[in-house]
Amino acid sequence: MRGQPALAKRSTPVKTQKNSKSQASSLLCSSQAEVFTSGGVTSRDDDPKYQQFSDEELKIIVEEAKRMGLICAAHAVGKAGIMAAIRAEFKVIEHNSMADDEVVKLMEEKEIMAVATITPIESILNNKDRYPPAMYKKTVQVAKAHKAAYKQAVKAGIKCALGSDLFGGIGSVLSPGLNGHEVVLAVEAGAMTPLHAIEAATANGPMTLGSEQAPSSGQVKEGYSADLLGLDDNPLDNTNMLRAPKNIRYIWKTGNLVKAPGLDPWGVLDR
Ligand SMILES: [Zn+2]
Repeated sequence: MRGQPALAKRSTPVKTQKNSKSQASSLLCSSQAEVFTSGGVTSRDDDPKYQQFSDEELKIIVEEAKRMGLICAAHAVGKAGIMAAIRAEFKVIEHNSMADDEVVKLMEEKEIMAVATITPIESILNNKDRYPPAMYKKTVQVAKAHKAAYKQAVKAGIKCALGSDLFGGIGSVLSPGLNGHEVVLAVEAGAMTPLHAIEAATANGPMTLGSEQAPSSGQVKEGYSADLLGLDDNPLDNTNMLRAPKNIRYIWKTGNLVKAPGLDPWGVLDR
């Protein structure tokens, strides 16, 4: 998270089921292990309702990661994958779309963080023609439950960070730079107040890397990285302004100015 003012995180996805131990052992130099414990929504050939790794494999991955000071985040949509991650002592659950009472209670007990992501769901629902039919169908199936699970987790006091799942190219409907949408969507969904959403997007982000890997970032405090934004308006009064990158006039990354009028980190004109 160092140098990332808002929502992105560094991680190493562990995707295949063979040789979990040797794969997990290659985590050196990563700051987190991200494991797809359920099928995904934007992936082509899997189903979110199925658990993707055995309990034994997940346990090995967590043990190996722990040996190197890393925690594991589960990329989990369906309940089977979420529960498998909880049993294996994962510390972060991303998406968490099918979380119910049982899941939320366990997350609370085990102090597991949630990283809900409304951005890709909204984008796919609003741009049906741009995505393959199978992806659209899966999105429709999880959208309603996702929002309800998100609100339930926040209400229960689960610590949340905001993710974005932005995987498109520059200029696409899911391109990097649109991270601020997630703050707006968290508020619009009725899950968070503007202040809560901004805190989740900034101060809480580093915590998803665990105490050993979290950089000193996400707080305006002596000794912390100066990751700061200069905005055109007060986002507490006008959260919607975070939707447009052009309203984020200045970005300081670890104290260095990387965006300002005439200077854009993406190498493209302000949108
Ligand atoms: Zn995802």
